[in-house]
Amino acid sequence: MKSFTYHKPATIADAVALLSISDTGSPLAGGMTLLPTMKQRLASPETIVDLSGIVALRGIRLEGDALVIGAMTRHADVAASDLVAAKLPGLARLAARIGDQQVRHRGTIGGSVANNDPAADYPSAILALDAEIITDRRRIAADDFFLGMFETALEPGEIITGFRIPIPEMSAYSKFGNPASRYALAGVFVAKTASGIRVAVTGAGSSVFRPADIENALGASFTPEALDRISIDATSLLSDIHADREYRAHLVMVMAKRAVALALKIA
Ligand SMILES: Cc1cc2nc3c(=O)[nH]c(=O)nc-3n(C[C@H](O)[C@H](O)[C@H](O)COP(=O)(O)OP(=O)(O)OC[C@H]3O[C@@H](n4cnc5c(N)ncnc54)[C@H](O)[C@@H]3O)c2cc1C
Repeated sequence: MKSFTYHKPATIADAVALLSISDTGSPLAGGMTLLPTMKQRLASPETIVDLSGIVALRGIRLEGDALVIGAMTRHADVAASDLVAAKLPGLARLAARIGDQQVRHRGTIGGSVANNDPAADYPSAILALDAEIITDRRRIAADDFFLGMFETALEPGEIITGFRIPIPEMSAYSKFGNPASRYALAGVFVAKTASGIRVAVTGAGSSVFRPADIENALGASFTPEALDRISIDATSLLSDIHADREYRAHLVMVMAKRAVALALKIA
């Protein structure tokens, strides 16, 4: 690991100012991805700005018809939140199934979404729920945020401060996880909202995506059976030692049906 300067500011403004000093500054959340990446020398930031001292970045609250979750809120806190369980049980279920206990007590929703790992769980919820990503300088619609593998609309030095997640009529998440890491081989988040059905798939492609055929079929009939005649094109899916693209395509359909059944409480 190369040497770096470490800062632990108490305010968002100070964090942004510190990040602007260096071209290679990095915010640090729980370090679950950033620290192993630095140890492997895949990343060598000159400045590390630890966000854990910024109280304003933590917590979960109801704001009108939406949940607002701070970027530094840990997976374990989302999983254990009575508010999330009552308003967005699909999100509580998702958070409870990330990694293991150690990862859930260090990893944060902001770190997960900023990192945009193709197999991460949260991006599917953020996209399916049509959430807004709130940063120190703007609000970004989920449809405009996830640009590709480990790539987002965040600018250098931009910090995610939280998420505004509209509460849907129904939602649920189902994933088939890698047995070792629990990262998704395929995970599907379905949401029935006032403006229609939104579905997002993680783990299967190079980045989270919305499958139009599945959304259209569920828009006509929000039942698992509506997906009986749908299949997903495997051509552009990921293929690796864990699962080939045809298997992932199959898993997506199975997870989609399970998610709908969970949302309808028939599973
Ligand atoms: C063994 C293991 C198993 C895992 N299993 C799963 C799993 O099953 N499902 C899953 O979804 N994930 C899984 N993860 C990922 C984990 O849950 C974390 O979400 C992820 O590693 C990000 O960690 P972090 O929040 O500590 O962010 P960090 O590692 O601190 O940061 C990650 C990246 O995001 C940037 N960043 C962090 N916070 C912000 C912010 N607020 N604004 C802008 N940029 C920011 C950092 O600069 C860095 O580039 C696993 C990780 C491990 C180590």
